[in-house]
Amino acid sequence: MEQLIFSTNNEHKLHEARAILGSKFKILSLSELGCFEDIAETSDTLEGNALLKARFVAQKYGVNCFSDDTGLEIAELGGAPGVYSARFAGDNKNSLANMQKVLNLLDGKENRTAQFRTVIALIFNKKEYIFEGKIIGRIATEQCGTAGFGYDPIFIPDGYNQSFAQLTESQKNAISHRALALQKMANGLSEILKD
Ligand code: IMP
Repeated sequence: MEQLIFSTNNEHKLHEARAILGSKFKILSLSELGCFEDIAETSDTLEGNALLKARFVAQKYGVNCFSDDTGLEIAELGGAPGVYSARFAGDNKNSLANMQKVLNLLDGKENRTAQFRTVIALIFNKKEYIFEGKIIGRIATEQCGTAGFGYDPIFIPDGYNQSFAQLTESQKNAISHRALALQKMANGLSEILKD
């Protein structure tokens, strides 16, 4: 089976990617590739960061690979934290502190609309492709649930009364921003492989 590197070591993301692409590709993480570098995300867009990480791996190791960058975009905050979601409350990338900062900023606000947006950059046979997935929802008034990671306990997808962290992994993966982007990439890869 053909190998495809996912430039992450996040187990949640790897699991999600393997569920969607695992029948066609052997998905390897950065550490399985032998890459232990922390690739700096220095761009001010999700697209830029996704490309930066994919290009680093493709150029250094000569492999087919993809990378993702995700942002939580909150309407009341003009789209923040967006590309700065991981470090919203400081450089130590603390999810609890990030969520608390969001809850504090939205305290008493009516408009709690938000979306998760994932951009995937794929480099396949030296060509670059971009795929995007998003899901709209709202920010809860407190943290609910313990599943998932990151901002999951405070994000309630449209059509649900529970946060992402209260859904099962398969429920979240059926609707999530990253699942949508991964599905688009899977479709894109099927087309590429036909050519
Ligand atoms: P990254 O793209 O993995 O760097 O994610 C940026 C920020 O968004 C980090 O704070 C992540 O924890 C958070 N994040 C990414 N994906 C998700 C998700 O599916 N649920 C909740 N938070 C996420």
